[in-house]
Amino acid sequence: MVLAGRLICNWRGEILAFDLSFGKIFWDEEGLFYAVDLGGTNFRVLRLHLGGKGQVLSQESKEIAIPRELMVGTGKDLFDFIANTLATFVDTEDILLDSKSNKHREAGFAFSFPVRQTSVKSGNVIQWTKGFKIDDAIGKDIVKQFQDAISRSGHDVEISALVNDTVGTLAGGRYNFQEETMIGCILGTGTNACYVERADAVKKWKEALPKSGEMVINLEWGNFRSPWLPRTFADDEVDKESVNPGDQWFEKMVSGMYLGEIVRHMLLRLAEEATLFGDTVPEKLREQQSLETKHVSKIHADISSELQTVATVLHEVLRIHDTTLEQRRIVHSLCDMVGQRGGRLAAAGLYGILKKIGRAGPNKNGFALSRQKKTTVVAMDGGLYEHHHPYRKYMEDALQELVGTNGPYEVFLRLQNDGSGIGAALLAASHSRHR
Ligand code: ADP
Ligand code: MG
Repeated sequence: MVLAGRLICNWRGEILAFDLSFGKIFWDEEGLFYAVDLGGTNFRVLRLHLGGKGQVLSQESKEIAIPRELMVGTGKDLFDFIANTLATFVDTEDILLDSKSNKHREAGFAFSFPVRQTSVKSGNVIQWTKGFKIDDAIGKDIVKQFQDAISRSGHDVEISALVNDTVGTLAGGRYNFQEETMIGCILGTGTNACYVERADAVKKWKEALPKSGEMVINLEWGNFRSPWLPRTFADDEVDKESVNPGDQWFEKMVSGMYLGEIVRHMLLRLAEEATLFGDTVPEKLREQQSLETKHVSKIHADISSELQTVATVLHEVLRIHDTTLEQRRIVHSLCDMVGQRGGRLAAAGLYGILKKIGRAGPNKNGFALSRQKKTTVVAMDGGLYEHHHPYRKYMEDALQELVGTNGPYEVFLRLQNDGSGIGAALLAASHSRHR
């Protein structure tokens, strides 16, 4: 399969257009392919065994948390860690699956940070997000840094595609759900989305239009900002305390790295100014990241009449003991509000894209309900979307509300588990020099 893989950037280097040929062409690659997925919290290595004719025969993966000190250290340390993890994983390969005699391997690299991509397998980091701050890696080719670290590990693995995680998710979505998949969206530690655009609508594209007539635009929507965003003092606090103040405002209101912190700031304010937890302010509320988003989602999901899970989380995580039902109700409704805001904002972002590509909007020409609706699939990936069920429900409901049920369009969100990694491996396969 051929994928031209040419890209362009917007004025800040944030919108990348990617010549999109996949989905139109049959996936016919065979053999073992790897992917490395560097997200915000976890790092995944993945092995896909492709059987040709569009078949994935098997897949294995391993997930490792990135040590915090490596997120704010040097590029060399981070990439040595990642390369060594990949090397150990490669060593577990089942030789029976391996049809190649030499030990040359190829991997796709799903990298979920803003990059000015210069070719299919090279790109310079524009900035770090989601708690990463590795200044010496900025402006440098991320693939070269990784490739050098792989060489130091003594293994022969070639990074043959650099893919934003949203693009990987979209590619995986197209592989699984076919051509109605027009959007890839991540809701994990951070958030971002990409979508399929008509190539002739990409005004900055000065070269020959790709044969497919389509391109993928990586929006880097985490950095969206607008005076209309419903920001609160807690968003300001979260922004101030982050490693990238002033950046990624949308991400900081919507994604997993921040929802726990927003709720913590609100609880702290309520404890200080309204004595929510009595005369003393619980110390844990002053501690950064003491309340994680997974705790917020646990509180949110508690529908018991006594809110017993809320009591347990407050007790175990924030060391707030012997809470009253009234206190627990307040904590629950705070988590509900923050989750609702996040889910609805994420849906609003998707609706904006759908309108842009003519897959949502007013019911023109008197659409009759008996007619076939135009279906769009959004391939979703990320721990927040996967695990935070009330958030997901708010997002889905808001999207249905915006798209409407009586109009000519319908939209489905589909969890594309490990989508970014699978997509990266598929794209590596499609670029394989060794078929
Ligand atoms: P990454 O964004 O690093 O690629 P993931 O997609 O695995 O990683 O998402 C991890 C994020 O998902 C965590 O940072 C956390 O915010 C969120 N998350 C994980 N588990 C839960 C949960 N049970 N409820 C809500 N959010 C969760
Ligand atoms: Mg990820």
